[in-house]
Amino acid sequence: MTKGRGIFVFLECTGNRIEEVSLELLAKACELQKLSQEPLYGVAIGKEGKELETQLLSLPVEKLWWYRYDGACLPALWEEAVLACIEEVLPSVLLLGGTPIGSGFASRVAVAMKTGVTADCTMLELDEGGNLIQTRPAFGGNIMASILTEKTRPQIATVRQGIFPVLTKKHQQAEMVKRRLSEQDSGVRLLKREEKSLDGGITKQEILVVAGRGVKREDDLEQLRELAHLLGGELASSRALVEKGWMPQSTQIGLSGNVVSPQVILTLGVSGTIQFMTGMKNAKKIIAVNTDKEAPIFSIAHFPIVGDLYTIVPNLLTLLKERE
Ligand SMILES: Cc1cc2nc3c(=O)[nH]c(=O)nc-3n(C[C@H](O)[C@H](O)[C@H](O)COP(=O)(O)OP(=O)(O)OC[C@H]3O[C@@H](n4cnc5c(N)ncnc54)[C@H](O)[C@@H]3O)c2cc1C
Repeated sequence: MTKGRGIFVFLECTGNRIEEVSLELLAKACELQKLSQEPLYGVAIGKEGKELETQLLSLPVEKLWWYRYDGACLPALWEEAVLACIEEVLPSVLLLGGTPIGSGFASRVAVAMKTGVTADCTMLELDEGGNLIQTRPAFGGNIMASILTEKTRPQIATVRQGIFPVLTKKHQQAEMVKRRLSEQDSGVRLLKREEKSLDGGITKQEILVVAGRGVKREDDLEQLRELAHLLGGELASSRALVEKGWMPQSTQIGLSGNVVSPQVILTLGVSGTIQFMTGMKNAKKIIAVNTDKEAPIFSIAHFPIVGDLYTIVPNLLTLLKERE
């Protein structure tokens, strides 16, 4: 086995900011680094700009590669760029966000390095031998599988946003290696570009009201949406209502939806399957309303309410409107 050393984080950048998932990964990487005592590295690919450079320089990494571009930069170029610095330091671990970019990229780097990837991890730890214990839900979320990449390096893992707390502390200046990427080198000509909205949908909300299969009619969702807005948040849902076509997929919380960690989450008629709870168990305060006192959601709820949502929601609405 090629022996790797160091923890490498792929820092995804959009516009002039570092994506939150990358800062969460970096916080986790700092924890792992304390145990392994190995160097921490980062690589970022982003648009030329002072604001992004300042953010990158303050990160707690020993060395950072910054690939800059003007205009369009195509992912076709990224693989080569990241592989170049990975081959330079031969890290033991490579962490990426479980975003469309990070996930696609992780598998391509893994093929090039002839190593494995564990996608969508929910826990990362180190064993005594320095192996990364990559834990993720398996078989539809019915079991948690801990996976080791024992024979090859780097050990590559992707993690979705919201699983780990975001990096908060300030740090020393990182050593920065600046390199440039150019569209001309990609062999692809970009004909049209459309900017996607950066509002982050339900993942950016501090307050979420979640509708589950306990909601009997599509029209009833209006009351729940009104409640969410009066509380200053948004309406999300379990997969049950997405499958019925009542709520868009972008509002789904869980294993095959979004991972959220709001300040407050209020679930209404959600049973709390493992697939659902994987996506919201890090919420700061969980309030659950369910008619069944044995519902699994109560095992993680800070405020379990055994009751009928059709009584509780109208009462809450009246109360909130009186206070307006
Ligand atoms: C591979 C895979 C991935 C999946 N990914 C996801 C995912 O990302 N997100 C997700 O949500 N699911 C996911 N699922 C589906 C998941 O297993 C469940 O089917 C789903 O979470 C159930 O949604 P629910 O809790 O709304 O419905 P149910 O499990 O049917 O629960 C409805 C609850 O409402 C309660 N209730 C009924 N009436 C009332 C009332 N009047 N007032 C209060 N409570 C009431 C009931 O007691 C019950 O507990 C996935 C499944 C698989 C196999």
